[in-house]
Amino acid sequence: MSEQTDAQIQETTYDAAIIGAGPIGIEIAIALKKEGLDYIHFDKGQIGETISGYPPQTQFFSSADRIAIAGVPIPIADRSKCTKEEYLAYLRAVVRQFGLTINTYEQVYLVERHEDRTFTLRTVRIDGERTWRVRNVIFAHGDMASFRELDLPGETLPHVSHVLGDPHAYFNRHVFIVGGKNSAVEASLRCWHTGAEVTICYRKGEFDTASVKYWLLPELQGRIERGEIRAIMRAVPVEITPSSVRIRYIDSDRMEEIPADAVLLLTGYRPDYTLLRNLGASFTGEEGRPVFNERTMETSIPGVYIAGTATAGEQRSFRVFIENCHIHADRIAAALTGGQPPEGDTSYGERHQES
Ligand SMILES: Cc1cc2nc3c(=O)[nH]c(=O)nc-3n(C[C@H](O)[C@H](O)[C@H](O)COP(=O)(O)OP(=O)(O)OC[C@H]3O[C@@H](n4cnc5c(N)ncnc54)[C@H](O)[C@@H]3O)c2cc1C
Repeated sequence: MSEQTDAQIQETTYDAAIIGAGPIGIEIAIALKKEGLDYIHFDKGQIGETISGYPPQTQFFSSADRIAIAGVPIPIADRSKCTKEEYLAYLRAVVRQFGLTINTYEQVYLVERHEDRTFTLRTVRIDGERTWRVRNVIFAHGDMASFRELDLPGETLPHVSHVLGDPHAYFNRHVFIVGGKNSAVEASLRCWHTGAEVTICYRKGEFDTASVKYWLLPELQGRIERGEIRAIMRAVPVEITPSSVRIRYIDSDRMEEIPADAVLLLTGYRPDYTLLRNLGASFTGEEGRPVFNERTMETSIPGVYIAGTATAGEQRSFRVFIENCHIHADRIAAALTGGQPPEGDTSYGERHQES
């Protein structure tokens, strides 16, 4: 990736800054580059940082054609669904193909708006801080900044995690998994296949068929019926100890202590809107979604745009994912160049999958 010198940075007012190089941030960069806009692009980690955090060999629920970006097909043998590793390789190839310059491992930590409607961005990376001047800011920073915590005693113990990671870690261990949506169901099966003893605990009476990958639930139900995986329904954890989880049954208030030497709290994610809030942006609804114009993606702050899953707020029923965000890139490119916004569905589609 080519580097700007400090002198160039100080002298330049860029047309736009893109915060986030997930699939949608990359798709926006391609759209702005095609329009000849002079933009800068940051990610606090590597490109596709969120996806690189999925457990190894995770298969996307979306079919490959729906998560392909900028019209570049994903070369996958059976044209169905790709794994995390295949998709990251694809994103790297797309970045190379379009010659994108992305300042990776550089976090935007402050955005300030000036009276002349320009913005200052302050960024930090391993060798220090940098300051940038831009006319527009595009937030494509996703909605998975932190985990939805349960505020339980013992939640910060070292054998407790909010992500599955590599299932190999759970071989020959008793894993207690909290949650009933896709992440928890998938983790239960992957841990079981690795050789773990698995208990899954969910506060509802049934797993949510609308949110779990359709091919996973029949297998989980079969294993529960055969006693291979223990499911505890309508119960919540109340305390985690180094060797057990104490649960309370919702209907009877009865308590039970379940042995566990690893605990996975797979209860969802939260976005971080600190930068947008500091700019004075407005939010709406139970999920705390940023207010934005559906045709241009501009937020309540002129010159500040939002795209990708960052538009979603704290998703509980997943409705915003890669496949219904592609249009954001063309909307923003049109808005920045004074072009006609593309026609297209502005709804978020049906509820869906992960969490
Ligand atoms: C296990 C799992 C499976 C999933 N499967 C699917 C699926 O099949 N299909 C699907 O559509 N979605 C799936 N998702 C959700 C998926 O990850 C998102 O839909 C997708 O990553 C969203 O893309 P995005 O570009 O909007 O945001 P992200 O991919 O989250 O990208 C945001 C980027 O912004 C960067 N960033 C954040 N803050 C800053 C900052 N201050 N400065 C600089 N950079 C910053 C982050 O490092 C990140 O790289 C899954 C999620 C999980 C956990």
